[in-house]
Amino acid sequence: MTEEKVLVLIKPDAMARNLSGIIIHDLSQLKLKMIGLKLVSVQKHLAEKHYEVHKEKPFYPDLLKYIMGEYHNVHSIIAIAYNGENAVQKLREYIGLKYPDEADPISLRGRYGKVNSKTKNIDNVIHASDSPENGEKEISIWFDKDELVE
Ligand code: GDP
Ligand code: MG
Repeated sequence: MTEEKVLVLIKPDAMARNLSGIIIHDLSQLKLKMIGLKLVSVQKHLAEKHYEVHKEKPFYPDLLKYIMGEYHNVHSIIAIAYNGENAVQKLREYIGLKYPDEADPISLRGRYGKVNSKTKNIDNVIHASDSPENGEKEISIWFDKDELVE
């Protein structure tokens, strides 16, 4: 089987709740190789580029606010690049479905996600690329080549 690259983002709700350590710890059991990791202060241009695929959706403006930390008063998030066999499926299964109440209770979103009672935002904790192609593309959006180890 060939190796795949995946971008993971620890989203602002998880940062606000100090869940980054436990999430990185939990993800380590997937035995993927970390090839990049950094704290990022997400500016509008980066948010728009990352979520370009959703730009026609009604929730797009809210999604930009969410990933930029405006709902959680958070100024940076953690971006991680992983590489490994079957990395997309392993990570997508482990993070769980988009809506926390539909996610497997043992998945990260099932365990830590919730709909925010005040903002109604889907606070779903984490992003992971949904295909090897998007993994490559998203990693190139978030990381310079010299920030990655192979
Ligand atoms: P994912 O790949 O599992 O993260 O899900 P999608 O690619 O469908 O959506 C990307 C992100 O947009 C989700 O993780 C949510 O943060 C957000 N999102 C998706 N659908 C909705 C929605 O209906 N309302 C709101 N507020 N946010 C949404
Ligand atoms: Mg997606």
